[in-house]
Amino acid sequence: MNKPVLLVVDDDAQVLAAVRRDLRSRYREHYVIVSASSGEEALATIKELKARGDALAMVISDQRMPGIQGTEVLAQTRDVYPIARRVMLTAYSDIEAAIKAINQAHLDYYLSKPWYPPEEGLYPVVDDLLDAWQAEFLPEAKGLRVVGHQWSPQSHEIKDFLASNLIPYRWLDIERDADTRVLLEAANVTAKELPAIFFEDGTVLRNPAPRQVAERLGRSLSASLNLYDLVIVGAGPSGLGAAVYGASEGLKTLMLDCHAPGGQAGSSSRIENYLGFPAGVSGSDLTRRAVAQAQRLGAEFLVPIEVCGVSIDAGYKHVRCSDGREIVTRTILAATGMAYREHPAPGVAEHTGAGVYYGAAVTEAPAFKDRSVFVVGGGNSAGQGAMHLARYAKDVHIVVRRDSLKETMSQYLIDQIDKTPNIHLRALTEIERVEGEGHVERISLKNAADGSIGVENADALFVFIGTKPLSEWLPAGVLKDGKGFVLTGRDLVANDAFAKAWKEKREPWSLETSVPGVFAAGDIRAGAMNRVASAVGEGSMVVRFVHEYLALT
Ligand SMILES: Cc1cc2nc3c(=O)[nH]c(=O)nc-3n(C[C@H](O)[C@H](O)[C@H](O)COP(=O)(O)OP(=O)(O)OC[C@H]3O[C@@H](n4cnc5c(N)ncnc54)[C@H](O)[C@@H]3O)c2cc1C
Repeated sequence: MNKPVLLVVDDDAQVLAAVRRDLRSRYREHYVIVSASSGEEALATIKELKARGDALAMVISDQRMPGIQGTEVLAQTRDVYPIARRVMLTAYSDIEAAIKAINQAHLDYYLSKPWYPPEEGLYPVVDDLLDAWQAEFLPEAKGLRVVGHQWSPQSHEIKDFLASNLIPYRWLDIERDADTRVLLEAANVTAKELPAIFFEDGTVLRNPAPRQVAERLGRSLSASLNLYDLVIVGAGPSGLGAAVYGASEGLKTLMLDCHAPGGQAGSSSRIENYLGFPAGVSGSDLTRRAVAQAQRLGAEFLVPIEVCGVSIDAGYKHVRCSDGREIVTRTILAATGMAYREHPAPGVAEHTGAGVYYGAAVTEAPAFKDRSVFVVGGGNSAGQGAMHLARYAKDVHIVVRRDSLKETMSQYLIDQIDKTPNIHLRALTEIERVEGEGHVERISLKNAADGSIGVENADALFVFIGTKPLSEWLPAGVLKDGKGFVLTGRDLVANDAFAKAWKEKREPWSLETSVPGVFAAGDIRAGAMNRVASAVGEGSMVVRFVHEYLALT
């Protein structure tokens, strides 16, 4: 395969030559730098690249050009190369217009002219964006191939595991991809053994559990130390925040997650309100950066490992994992967040993984190209999920009980939804039943105003309703509120059971639970803000209290 392409577009010949020169001097070993002097020429080049089967990694385009403008070039790039990074080149005086364009066309970044020296103004941004592109890009003939049935819950589990752990793979649906039968026959894989994972070296895993996949990919699942200063359970934003600070401050830090790093935020297609990312950042990109940062600083990660209990002996905490092993630590951070509640309508449970998906809009969206899907829920996560699905599906119906999204969703998402013609809001509506032979085919909807029921054809239902804290694994001494959220700090002092449980002379620190040395941060905590930034902030704060606790013991 040819090297991937970086395309630069500018009608100013001098600027074009300067960007091309700077990009060539750093990236020519791994990329081909191609230039175009107008929007029209750029779009023609993109079509040619596609026809030749070349990969396009990035387009850097000037905005103001005669004829087709930069935003249009960048918007059309996305239709042909959905994961290519798209950057606007703009004069300093035009930055406001660039930010507006970022919001409207969902661009990845803007670069302001002049960018000298390129080591400061150009390469850091381009390096970062190319890293993110490389993490998603899978060359045609390389990488993992997963063969299975679209409607198989096991196939969904494997795809979700790989996608959430940022492992690129190619999905081959046995019903849709004619070549897969030949592949299966050649490897003697029977239909009962699906999903099957084909590795580059020709080996195959048949209907594997996520854990086997992790082991086959060489991920360590054993803890390297007999005793840790801090074990973080849950690698969402709060756990990752604690891992970065814990490791950077010299604590022996281990992080465990039963599924993948990133947590709920990892499943978000675009986080728009996290500090330092003016163009928004996808959950997977943020996770990739955080994991790399924590590991570089020395934190250890084990995924997938589920924690099912904790016992305490002379201040040492023994963390029990569902595979039977025990890990010993002096302190614990409970950062297991929350999960979506099961939707109670008949038919939902039996179709889970076969057309009903909890949150998994990013993993499954490409499989629903040109199909009709429903999203249930009126929060920001539902809004982001719908926006992402709308890039692939023919129609996306958002089902909510209320009469609008106003009270439950951020205005910026409501505005985006209003402007997306294939998203339809179904207000005052409830999911009554889900039906289909082996997979979702129809959904019955109840009109909350008059009680009437209508049946509609549907290919999938994405559930983004109510959440429950994942706190059952914590020891009995950890006090919780009526819904299972963990009480910490001052909230504990006001609780009647606390006086009996707490034997220390000091008061609990603000993120400490009723068991000394066991901390909680992020969405698992009673009164949490349910935001990425607050979860990261709390996770980072906990490390300070861990130091104080360790100094006392
Ligand atoms: C789709 C979506 C979009 C969102 N968008 C935004 C946004 O744009 N901006 C914003 O500020 N917030 C957003 N949020 C909210 C934000 O993601 C959460 O507030 C944040 O992720 C909470 O972080 P956390 O670390 O507390 O927990 P979580 O993110 O819930 O992570 C918990 C982790 O613990 C692991 N775990 C659970 N139980 C166990 C166990 N027993 N053993 C081992 N591991 C376990 C889970 O696998 C998970 O990885 C969004 C949420 C969703 C779902």
